[in-house]
Amino acid sequence: MTMMRAMVLDRPGQPLVMRERPLPQPGPGEILVAVSACGVCRTDLHVVDGELPHPKLPIVPGHEIVGRVAALGEGVTGFAAGQRVGIPWLGATCGHCPYCRSDRENLCDAPLFTGYTRDGGFATHTVADARFCFALPPRLDDASAAPLLCAGLIGWRSYRMAGAAAALGIYGFGAAAHILVQVAVWQGRRVYGFTRPGDAAAQAFARSLGAAWAGGSEEAPPEPLDAAIIFAPVGALVPAALRAVKKGGRVVCGGIHMSDIPSFPYAILWEERQIVSVANLTRADAREFLAVAPDSGLKTAVVRYPLDRANAALDDLRGGRLQGAAVLCVT
Ligand SMILES: [Zn+2]
Ligand SMILES: [Zn+2]
Repeated sequence: MTMMRAMVLDRPGQPLVMRERPLPQPGPGEILVAVSACGVCRTDLHVVDGELPHPKLPIVPGHEIVGRVAALGEGVTGFAAGQRVGIPWLGATCGHCPYCRSDRENLCDAPLFTGYTRDGGFATHTVADARFCFALPPRLDDASAAPLLCAGLIGWRSYRMAGAAAALGIYGFGAAAHILVQVAVWQGRRVYGFTRPGDAAAQAFARSLGAAWAGGSEEAPPEPLDAAIIFAPVGALVPAALRAVKKGGRVVCGGIHMSDIPSFPYAILWEERQIVSVANLTRADAREFLAVAPDSGLKTAVVRYPLDRANAALDDLRGGRLQGAAVLCVT
């Protein structure tokens, strides 16, 4: 095979276009991967809608990639042809900035991000830096494993950032929340799910995954929260979550983009409540989560689309019509 197909974004605000391209060759340290499934994440939507600055253009979105190694570049070790691998959002780091040197490569000064500043997985093939690819636990099939690569990994980093919260609120019940609630309940936490007001289907979905309670984001949970994670890109949820957490409680913003946060009285932040954000992931996060995930027995709810229906998947995500995670199934 000498050609590949990809769904390409030429300019933010436009639909993706299917293009044929010559099959790329992996450079030193890289692997060529034949994509079998690629999750559709809210970050892809932010890239496509022009809400994130300076994407590489044209760009192939997609950073929840599951595939098989098709070719190895010079010097690659630890992977074999045909092996199943996952490719996440963190595509490369510089390795020498102060952040890389202090175990905070998620904050690298010169990173590459899959599907944003290097081509991603809305394609039949992609090339990745092998040092940032991972073997995947065998229990889940390709489409079911894809959402672990971002919703799972960055969800996990957000969850870790929330600390040892016995009562945990999750605002925004999309792909990340539906994974995290299963892990949290398995770890003995009481999880409270917050959705758009009146979204009875999403609330039922949250309860079906083990949430002790689910309601609208304007509602008070049945008990004060030790911590809350906000996955929905809605700034007004920050003061709402602050009101729901106890003294010393923490509000974790897990998304890459959010609408402006409205002003709020200092009294709801006082008593050592904290607001923190989560950016990207480290490879250590990935190794840790991929080791824990199989033990939790978690299942992912995926809505499958063929590759050439990527725009429909993005529209369904934008319109809040999905339960669980959208996944493009390439083969
Ligand atoms: Zn760096
Ligand atoms: Zn993502």
